[in-house]
Parts: sequence; structure tokens; C-alpha cells
Amino acid sequence: MQVLAALTDETHTGENRCWPCTLLNLGLVGIIVLLLRARERSLASLLVAVVGVAVIYLRGYLVPYTPAFAPRLVAVSPIPDEWFHRESGHDGPSHSESSNEERGHEESESLADDVELDGETVFRELSAAGIIETEDERLFLAPAVDTAWHERMDELTDLSLDELSATLQASLPQIDHAEPYVDDAEWVVLGSDPGQLLARPVAVAELAAYEVLDERIDDERLKVAGAEAFRMFLDSCPVCDAELVESSTVSCCGGHLGPRQDPDETLVCPTCEQRLYTYDGVN
Ligand SMILES: [Zn+2]
Repeated sequence: MQVLAALTDETHTGENRCWPCTLLNLGLVGIIVLLLRARERSLASLLVAVVGVAVIYLRGYLVPYTPAFAPRLVAVSPIPDEWFHRESGHDGPSHSESSNEERGHEESESLADDVELDGETVFRELSAAGIIETEDERLFLAPAVDTAWHERMDELTDLSLDELSATLQASLPQIDHAEPYVDDAEWVVLGSDPGQLLARPVAVAELAAYEVLDERIDDERLKVAGAEAFRMFLDSCPVCDAELVESSTVSCCGGHLGPRQDPDETLVCPTCEQRLYTYDGVN
């Protein structure tokens, strides 16, 4: 039984099983079995069938790295992306979205959702203010800003979800109401009827960034849009400290790691199952 336990991989089985991956792999096993039978190698075909199905049952897939390449196949295939999102149990963020939509909530990507300020302007202004620095064509936060931001994130992480909501409402003039909300993840609801959901790690990161910017610049819109931009500098989750992984908005399997390419690439906290940043068409 120890062998079975060692073979079992819960990341892609049970509730997390990805049916498109499972079917794709079963189909491949079927083709190999048929090819072997056509060559009258019935023992080998039986072996492949038994072992193949068993491995797919235990691990979720047989072909190595299916979770890595399946999302790309999905991305280039004419099959609608939604098929995979609806059936998949292990794309955290969209899984949460579907249950939230039933309650009438919409997920908000950022506090800056309503701020119309293009990325170029934000970076130009933040650079002019000495908040973002460039070296060798790489952007990073000025060290003092980065330190202040991380210290404030640590403080906000220690707050309860109630306290975080109250702090957010008190700090941001344009938020007239914020309250905690918990389903399979933790959220702050912004506004009411029905309100928009902001993931807890995003709320921590943006509120901390907003407060840091508040001490350095005057333009309210730039503070909010700038706070959103700060999230691209995250390398670990502000709430649970887990290292963020790159994923894709077209993701039938959570484990996709790949170069930043179309469709939108995202930074995801694997533990909180929340999306921390979306690179909109940034290559
Ligand atoms: Zn996390």
C-alpha cells in the first residue's frame, strides 16, 4: 500500500482532478493500446491499458507534464476556454469566482478598477516621483519605498479580516463601505448591492502600497493606480508568505509555469488560491 500512497498525487486527483487532462490521457492510452493490438502484441497492450489507467486514476495524468502543456494546448485550440474552467476543480481563482457569482458578487481585480489611468502614465509619474527606479531596463521599487511597503503589509496581514476591512474603508476616500466575506477563500467586499470582492492578499498589498504612496504623492488617482502597479513587484504572498507562481488565465491545470505570453499571464498564490497580479498583454 505504501507504493500506492507514493504514487498517489492529490494535486491532480479527487476534487482537484482535471477532466480535460484525464480524458486527453485516457485517449492517448487508448491509441497506444490499439496500435499494440494491431501489431498483435496483446500482452503488451493489456499491460499498457492496466498500468496507464491505474496511473491516471492515481496521479490524474500519465503523460509527464500534462498540467504544464495542457493549458497551452487549450490556449491554441479552438475549444472554448470556459469548458475547462467550468469542469476544472483546480484553477483556484476561477473556481472561487463561480461560487461568488452565484451570490451576486463580482470579483474585483484591484482597488483601481474604476481608475482610468494608463500604465505608461502611472510608471512615468511614479518614476518622476522617485518611487520606481530603472536599471538595465528592469523596474524596481526604490529601496526605502519597498521597505516601507513590506513593513506595512506585515502589519496589515496581522489584522483580522474585520479589522482589515475597517482599515481599508477608513483609509481610502473613494471606498464608502467595506466588509469581510469568506467562502472557500477570504475577501473584502467593496461597496454594497452586491459589492465587489477583493481577495485578501490583494487588499493587504494594495492598501499598504496606497498608504506608502499617500505619504509621497498628492494625486489621488495616481495613488490608487500606483498601488495596483506595486503588486507586480511581489514575489511572495503578503498573507501566507508562499512563493507566488506564474500561471495563466487559460489554465485547465493549476501547475502551469511558462513564459509570460498571451493569453494573460498571472501571478498566483498557490496556498490562498488567489490571483495576485495579471500581466495584461505584457511580454
Ligand atoms: Zn497566500
